[in-house]
Amino acid sequence: MSEKITLVDGVLNVPNDPIIPFIEGDGTGVDIWPAAQLVLDAAAKKHGKTIEWKEVLAGQKAFDATGDWLPEETVQAFRDHLIGIKGPLTTPIGGGIRSLNVALRQIMDLYVCLRPVRWFTGVPSPVKHPEKVDMVIFRENTEDIYAGLEVEEGTPEAKKLIGMLKDAFGWEIKPDSGVGIKPVSKSGSKRLIRAAIQYAVKRNRKSVNLVHKGNIMKFTEGAFREWGYELTRDEFSDVAVGWDDCNGDPGDKILVKDSIADITLQQVLTRPDEFDVIATLNLNGDYLSDALAAQVGGIGIAPGGNINYVTGHGVFEATHGTAPKYAGQDKVNPGSVILSGVMMYEHLGWQDAADNIVRAIEATIADKIVTYDFARLMDGAKEVKTSEFAAAIVERL
Ligand code: NAP
Repeated sequence: MSEKITLVDGVLNVPNDPIIPFIEGDGTGVDIWPAAQLVLDAAAKKHGKTIEWKEVLAGQKAFDATGDWLPEETVQAFRDHLIGIKGPLTTPIGGGIRSLNVALRQIMDLYVCLRPVRWFTGVPSPVKHPEKVDMVIFRENTEDIYAGLEVEEGTPEAKKLIGMLKDAFGWEIKPDSGVGIKPVSKSGSKRLIRAAIQYAVKRNRKSVNLVHKGNIMKFTEGAFREWGYELTRDEFSDVAVGWDDCNGDPGDKILVKDSIADITLQQVLTRPDEFDVIATLNLNGDYLSDALAAQVGGIGIAPGGNINYVTGHGVFEATHGTAPKYAGQDKVNPGSVILSGVMMYEHLGWQDAADNIVRAIEATIADKIVTYDFARLMDGAKEVKTSEFAAAIVERL
């Protein structure tokens, strides 16, 4: 009998045979999810674990079956089972439906978007030293301009808001403007930065970099930076120290430093080895995640997780979209969703199974067995289908 994962005294209690809900995903979800499941099941089995996968619906598949893009039943399944995994979902253009991914993150208050970015030997890369890239991004997931607090140009709501801002603050905003609000809270920033520092401690990382645009947006992005240093002093003084409090010399503690978002986007390219754990706000984190993913093989292989470390909830996901032109062709790279599964296993404490999959992926790529996206960038590669790539990984577990 499979069991539910529970949270006991703030710690995940993971049985050897947990029930884990999954969303197959739209478009290429039909190709990459079965491939990922094959690899995840085989690795779990090798380490004495079995997952009972519970399919739940979202996106186009849910809409066709239920008329609802994100059925309450799906959200409830993720709530009840704490941990889940998903393929990519179609975002219908227009029609007032915002991104299902953003909706899921906000409904479940999954405040951390975790994106580890590292290079796997043999993966084609546009940079000279991809092996220097080993960063973990903690992107705030619920606030910032992603909160969805926007009014459309020309609407009564926009006119009203523009009028209120003029009356209350004397702010002159052009009448033909759309207006968005950027909330950044102290509690929201601190819980994100707390998770990043705790991760750095647990994983023996050297630094946590607060990436912000505080030189321009002082009371949102700038405050994020200040709250990060304050948190370091108040809660982590035994294990971490802020740059100004140690003149950049942290001894054996974790160094908490900060950098401005625009220069960060240069430096992650020019000196990637200076970056380790990164904590940042929602929009910066979005740009940074994809820019970094490009350095280590692109979105076909970039994994992600959305986590609330307080409630124990986590939804791990492929970071790319549905790539509809390839749907059903057994062609695209299942790496992103497989590595999201690796992140999930790490989160569950199944480190051996996670490491095993990573080694098997490396061995497969080292043998030049790859899907089309890598094959077109590699000399002498053997291009295989999604399912064949997964089978080759399983052989190497
Ligand atoms: P996309 O689906 O990510 O595809 C863009 C390109 O990325 C593809 O044409 C392909 O490049 C490459 N790609 C994507 N997945 C790949 C994989 N598994 N292996 C190898 N290459 C891969 O982006 P899009 O076309 O802008 O969006 C399509 C739909 O997905 C939209 O409805 C969008 O809203 C949605 N979306 C969902 C998520 C999510 O669920 N997390 C994220 C982003 C977008 P080449 O053409 O060069 O082969």
